[in-house]
Formats: sequence, structure tokens, C-alpha cells
Amino acid sequence: RVVYCGGEFVSEHEARISMFDRGFLFGDAVYEVTAVIGGRMVDNDLHLARLERSLSELAIPMPLPRAEIEAIQHALIEKNQLMEGTVYLQVSRGEEDREFVYSADLKPTFIAFTQAKNLLNNKGQTAGLAVNLVEDPRWNRRDIKTIMLLGQVMAKRDAKAAGFDDTWFVEDGTITEGASSTAYIVTNDKRIITRANSKAILPGCTRAALLRLCSTHGVALEERAFTIAEAQGAAEAFQTSATSLVTPIVRIGDVSLNGGVPGPLTRQLQAYYLEHVNMLQS
Ligand code: PLP
Repeated sequence: RVVYCGGEFVSEHEARISMFDRGFLFGDAVYEVTAVIGGRMVDNDLHLARLERSLSELAIPMPLPRAEIEAIQHALIEKNQLMEGTVYLQVSRGEEDREFVYSADLKPTFIAFTQAKNLLNNKGQTAGLAVNLVEDPRWNRRDIKTIMLLGQVMAKRDAKAAGFDDTWFVEDGTITEGASSTAYIVTNDKRIITRANSKAILPGCTRAALLRLCSTHGVALEERAFTIAEAQGAAEAFQTSATSLVTPIVRIGDVSLNGGVPGPLTRQLQAYYLEHVNMLQS
């Protein structure tokens, strides 16, 4: 595989990062993941806008202008002949001797790589997933897409060990978001509920795209926090992310929703989203 590291395209075996990189030592770095379907990036403008925002919140300069980052993404897709999968971008503050307080003149470390992955034809897309509910273990700036992901790593490990596919996080009795996705429920009267954007969750790019589709197609939507009881009593549930698109949730904790199969409105939204993705192809 060809990756981008140290300002050039190199074989993944030649790519090297300093052990003094602040991403490595402090998790002082942010990232983005853009889906690639049919060789095309999905909603990449939203991802680059969010990258710029995450960096600005941490006062890390953009490593390159947006257009150049995009050109690197395109080149990686081309060089690796990627049809379906992801393009990953990571920017750390840079490298220097280990001190909490950093120098003003650091040069950000920028790396990028592709990963082939089956996004369309998998268990999540077809049968839906079971999620467990876990107290949200993360810090209170979840709107910044940092590489500090230990809460998510541990939650997903525990979910798997307990026989679940994924985790939804809970804070003060309400769902914040999925461990790596935005969480939604559907009420009996066919309204979609998802938490409003704030520092408590990552503002999902797939969420933004889906909310636009809901508005286009006249699907009722409420942006507010919802409780565990509402989630387990919901008609349907689903989650979204760049890599999981719209994924039905068929069980929350020990409660099955819609008889343990993806709900009709969820199926409809999956179809709207795929239509949106397919429009990129033409
Ligand atoms: N929330 C969290 C914590 C995530 O990690 C992700 C994606 O990885 C999302 C939400 C969904 O964001 P997006 O739709 O931009 O992939």
C-alpha cells in the first residue's frame, strides 16, 4: 500500500514518525475518516471542514491548504486503486522533547492512508446490530475529533466480550452517541430523535447529510436528548457514521426493537442515503 507520510507518497513499510511526535506521546492530534464508495469520496467537504474546525479548537495549524489535502486523498485512492473503504487523515501538533507546554513554532505532522473495507455488504447493513449501554467514559470536548480513543476502544472490547456488536454511551440517563457513531431512535409516530450537536458529541458528517435528506424527503425530526427508557421503548433505532452509513440497531441492551429486525423507516433512510451516495457516482 502507498501512504502519505513526511510530505511524500511512500510504501507503508518506509513510512516513519518520530517517537517524540506529540500525537504519539500525548494524543495531541486529530483525525478524519472519509468513506470511499465506487472509488469516490462521500461528503469529503464536510470532513475537511470538520478537520479544520478540530485543528482550530486545538490551535494546531492546517498542515496544508484544503485543496492540497484533497489532492493527496485523490492520489492515494488512485495509487491504491481503492474502490470501497476509507481514507484516513491525521494531523498531530508536531514533534519536540516531551513537555506538556508546547513551542509556538511546531510543524504539524500530517499522515494519510487508505484502507479497503466492505461498507455496503455486511451484517450491520443487512441484519442490523445489537448495542449495549455504558456510562460515557470520555472527556467533555467530544466535539473535537481527537485520536484519544481509549474510552471507545475499551467500550467496544467489552461490548464484544458481552455478545454485542457495538456500544451506545449514556450520560445523566440520556444517550450521548454511539462509541463511533451518531445515535437515533424512531418514535411510534415516525419522528426521528437525535441529540442536538454540542460539546457532548461529535458533530457527525453523516448526521449532517442525513438531516438534509430528512428535510428533503419530509421526514419529521427532533434534535434533543433521549432517555434509556425512550430508546428501549422506541419503534426503531439506527446509527450513522462515515464507515457504517445508516446502520439499523435491532437490540438495545436486553430489549429487542421491531421484533429484532430493521424497521421500515430505517430501511427507507438507508435507501435515501445510498441514493445520495450514488449521486456522487454520476
Ligand atoms: N461520534 C463519534 C464518537 C464518532 O467516532 C463518529 C465517527 O467515527 C461519529 C460520531 C460519526 O461521525 P461521522 O458521521 O462524521 O463519521
